[in-house]
Parts: sequence; structure tokens; C-alpha cells
Amino acid sequence: MSNEEIVNAELDKVPGYQIYFGYNRKILCPFHSDRATPSLSVCVSSQAPVPLGVFYCFGCGITGGWNKLAKSLSLREIQVDPNDGKRPSLDFKKLEKNLFGKGLEAILEEMGSPLVKSWPEEVSWRGFSGSFIKKMGGLTLLERSRTDDSTLKVFFPVCVNGTVVGGIRAAFEKPQMGPSYINTKGDWSKKAGLLFFDQSKKLALSQSALAIVEGPRDALRLIENGIPAVSVLGSTSFSKEKAKRLATLNLDTYYLIPDNDEAGEKMKDLVRSCAELILNLRVLNLPKADKNGDLIKIDPNSCSQHILDKIKKTIGDRKC
Ligand SMILES: [Zn+2]
Repeated sequence: MSNEEIVNAELDKVPGYQIYFGYNRKILCPFHSDRATPSLSVCVSSQAPVPLGVFYCFGCGITGGWNKLAKSLSLREIQVDPNDGKRPSLDFKKLEKNLFGKGLEAILEEMGSPLVKSWPEEVSWRGFSGSFIKKMGGLTLLERSRTDDSTLKVFFPVCVNGTVVGGIRAAFEKPQMGPSYINTKGDWSKKAGLLFFDQSKKLALSQSALAIVEGPRDALRLIENGIPAVSVLGSTSFSKEKAKRLATLNLDTYYLIPDNDEAGEKMKDLVRSCAELILNLRVLNLPKADKNGDLIKIDPNSCSQHILDKIKKTIGDRKC
């Protein structure tokens, strides 16, 4: 078992709500009386810029390494990687802001401090398994509405390079009327709204490719099929800033896969104009008609599996 596996398996034993995002997991703090929202954040990835297991509590401010936390919770300790000592000393003020998602705290506060829970593995969401949604950082929120009638929502923090830049929430079922997704406040969406950026990063770097799609579920379907993808959160929500952020991954090819409708056409023009000279962009068009020649609206989420397999093959074969 690697240290990363040990830390995650041990945290599974900690009772109470947990929140997953970016490189971190938040648990109820054992060092102060922490009852509702988890406030102690633990780094659970060996890919993170700080050592695995380092923790920080937003409630009481306590910090330290994994073994200190493990002792207090009677969890298994790890053999600390000697290289971790050679990393630059930790500036927790900076960490608080950049790595431990101060953004998430602020965002949740703005939303009226809903009750937050990590995704229950046994609950699937719009065709995706609960364990997949959990792995992708999905959370459930219990929003307290003005009329006593509380509603359960799906929430995805948008995490770019370890920083929570914003979030989107959606109803459990597709609403009859109104928007499918609601962004949290602020202008982050146009500049930095790249949903699943951090979750796709590793896969994107290994394939030196990334798919750019419109909606959250488009990206989820591709990622589920082994294709790294980000959702730009809407067909009109692209900008030079986003293109530049994507360019920091330094990938061979970026594949734009728009919906096959008019909005998709507009998205194509917008992304092309913003990404020009910044990204090596290729457009993969979804078919506009089915076998019988009937016009049919599809997107990367609703398209048939054979179209998806073709996309996967195109991305995989490009170097040949
Ligand atoms: Zn604490």
C-alpha cells in the first residue's frame, strides 16, 4: 500500500461528513468541537504541491503532518517521505488561500452556509454512478430556503490548479423549467470556469490531449470513458483567459467537441477566436443526422456509445 492509499483508507474510517475537492479531503476536526461542517482539510494526494497528509483546520487553526493527525484519531501512521523535508517550508497563510480552498469556504458562506455532505456512493445522478460522482468531487447540499422547505442539491466545486474558483449547483432531477445549472456568484465562470480541470489533469498530461465541451455532463461522460475533458460551463462562456489557462498544461492537441446545434456552432467560433495562436485546437463535429437522415440534437453526453468510441480512437490515434 502506498502512503496515499493508506491516508485515504484511514480517512474512510473517520466518522461524520467529509468533503472532497482538489487535492484535499475535509473532515470534522478532532482538535476542537466541530459538529456540522467539516473544517479540517487534509492533503490526500502525492501529486499536490505540499506533502501528503499535511492538514490545516479552518476552525481552530491547528496544522501539522499526517502522523500528528493519525495519533489524535488513532489511525495508522505513515513512513514519512524523506524528500518531503526538502520541500520549501510551508506558508500556511498562503496554503489556506491557495490549496485548502478558502474559496470553497467563502462560496458556501455566500450560498447561505448550506449543509454539505460528500457524495453518497449508493446514489447515482442522471445516469452516472455515485462512486464516479464522488470521485469527481461532487457534493450534496441541503439548502435552507426561505419557506421552511429545504431542498437537496448537487454541487460541483470548480477546482483549477488546486484553487476553488467557483462552483455550480443543480437539482437532482432535470428541472421542468429554468436553467439546469446555477453558477455561484462572481465573474469566475468566464475567466476560470473550467469544470473538472484538476480531475482531468493527470489523464490529459498522459495523453497530451484534452477535450473541451459545453456542459458538465458532457465532460463527465467523456471522462467516464477515459477521455480527459473540461466543461466550459456554457456555449458562450469562453475567453482568452480560459485558453491561456488550458495552455499551461502544454498539451499536443485540444479537441473541441461542441453540441451539434446552433449554440454549438457559435461556441465553435468563439473558442476558435479566443484560442487562436494559444492552443493547437481541433474540432470534432458530432453527426447532425442519424442513420435515417433525420435531424437529431445530440451532445457528447447524449450521443451513442459508438460515436464516443470513435472520438476516443481519433484522440488515441492522432500520433500515428
Ligand atoms: Zn479544528
